[in-house]
Amino acid sequence: MDFLNSLDTDNIIILVFAYIFVAATVAKLGSSREVGGKKTLMYSLLFTPLYGLYYVYNSPAKDTLKIAHYRCPECGLEHTDGHSHCPNCAKEGKRVRLKKFYMRTY
Ligand SMILES: [Zn+2]
Repeated sequence: MDFLNSLDTDNIIILVFAYIFVAATVAKLGSSREVGGKKTLMYSLLFTPLYGLYYVYNSPAKDTLKIAHYRCPECGLEHTDGHSHCPNCAKEGKRVRLKKFYMRTY
């Protein structure tokens, strides 16, 4: 059986749907990554879902991405919750603004 001859309209439609379905599945994986679902879907449709999958696995997971830290320039303590002023220095009556920075954890 010739493969090209077996590709009638119905088969092409099925193939296109399967392609979109696979791309959407890859995009779903991408939505939990830094790259995001929309971008993954775009890459999957344009450069095949295999490329999209490759893209997803090279992207760090979202929940381990950036964690905001707040460091006090006065006492050097680090806080992960969003205090605007250092609670440690506040005990001594000082109002020290915390410096926000991001750390990547893997
Ligand atoms: Zn402090």
